[in-house]
Amino acid sequence: MDTKIQETYDTVVRRNPGEAEFHQSVKEVFESLSPVLERNPQYVDAAVLERICEPERQIIFRVPWMDDNNNVQINRGFRVEFSSVLGPYKGGLRFHPSVYLGIIKFLGFEQIFKNSLTGMPIGGGKGGSDFDPRGRSEGEIMRFCQSFMTELYRHLGEYTDVPAGDIGVGGREIGFLFGQYKRITNRYESGVLTGKGITWGGSLVRTEATGYGTVMFTQEMLKAKGESLDGRKVIVSGSGNVAIYATEKATQLGATVIACSDSSGYVVDEDGLDLELMKQIKEVERARVSEYAARRGGRARFAESGSIWDVPCDIALPCATQNELNADHARTLIKNGVVAVSEGANMPCTPEAVALLQDAGIAFAPGKAANAGGVATSALEMQQNASRDSWDFEYTEERLQDIMVGIHQNCAETAEEYGAPGNYVLGANIAGFTKVADAVIALGVI
Ligand code: NDP
Repeated sequence: MDTKIQETYDTVVRRNPGEAEFHQSVKEVFESLSPVLERNPQYVDAAVLERICEPERQIIFRVPWMDDNNNVQINRGFRVEFSSVLGPYKGGLRFHPSVYLGIIKFLGFEQIFKNSLTGMPIGGGKGGSDFDPRGRSEGEIMRFCQSFMTELYRHLGEYTDVPAGDIGVGGREIGFLFGQYKRITNRYESGVLTGKGITWGGSLVRTEATGYGTVMFTQEMLKAKGESLDGRKVIVSGSGNVAIYATEKATQLGATVIACSDSSGYVVDEDGLDLELMKQIKEVERARVSEYAARRGGRARFAESGSIWDVPCDIALPCATQNELNADHARTLIKNGVVAVSEGANMPCTPEAVALLQDAGIAFAPGKAANAGGVATSALEMQQNASRDSWDFEYTEERLQDIMVGIHQNCAETAEEYGAPGNYVLGANIAGFTKVADAVIALGVI
């Protein structure tokens, strides 16, 4: 980092104490920006870095609700509206006990550049709560979502702030949130949330989009090296929304996905995961991944300890959570001959792991590019809502495919332009940043 960037980073750390994940995400972007600031001194003069790192608005609120035993429960709700220079704030809601302001800010910061890369008119934001949905009844989930929205609704709107899902927030939760928004405002404002059900304003392909998009980006990266996914052994971490649909698309493209995980451990099925069984266990029964091995009658094994990254593979798709793949894991993957790593999750690889993978010449796709298909398809959902239309699956998937190919091309060309061919981290950061920076300047000091 050059001196000016380092000073700005130090200020961010000082002004946001204790928010390690936020610091990490800012540093990751800043490390790519020296050559951009050299070519564009107007970004320095206009204090673009300082302005981008300070969210436009941060909302923290109490979420009171009653559990099934009539006990009052209190959680903390967050919405960080980071940047609206490219469009309304857009980014998901995460319900997980690990959520605190630093997590939401790292996700919101990433989201600014990811949304910029999609080419769609959407700004960056993120929200959530430290609520733990695991083990909660349907009634408890609904009461929590209703209480959460009873505060959040006043900050939302199809032209203001448009949340979606993330960890712990899927179609069921979006339904409860949308229902409460509709009730409070007396408006059927479909464009205020994305990830809705198909019969009430949702878009086909939105459920699949993040996982599908990650694999489409991976395919493009491999194509650029004259390779493909066909016949490859793939490992996907997590077994939630992103992991399941990454598995589906990778399988469609001829790969064999041999392992996935959740926070209780991982399963290995050398014949290739039975996706219908996995969907039944995860999407319908909301059970643990060990259940998969139990029902495969000896064809799959469950490991409670150790790491999924110890399993030899050609392609690794971390799709669970931040910092889940560290330097030791990266060394193991390299030793086992991995050829590509794509981040389906947000910031799943530690900076040390990324450096090791890149130094070893492994094709590496950063999350803000590789998993941008989810938010891009959310923007397509907003388009359909605005035009009172709904597109069919094939057309919507084609749009997603075009967007992912476009993001890949943009990242690859930008990396090339800045003298670092094949460096998708640099390409994504610079391409995402310059569009935002130009808009920051154009809109004046606001
Ligand atoms: P889900 O809640 O559907 O699934 C998350 C999966 O990751 C679960 O299998 C969960 O296991 C596992 N997991 C979560 N936290 C941890 C943890 N601390 N340790 C180990 N495993 C963990 O979430 P999504 O699939 O939607 O999101 C996964 C990642 O993808 C996140 O980083 C998210 O920000 C990112 N992402 C999601 C998008 C989307 O459209 N959904 C868009 C872009 C990025 P368990 O059930 O045991 O907790």
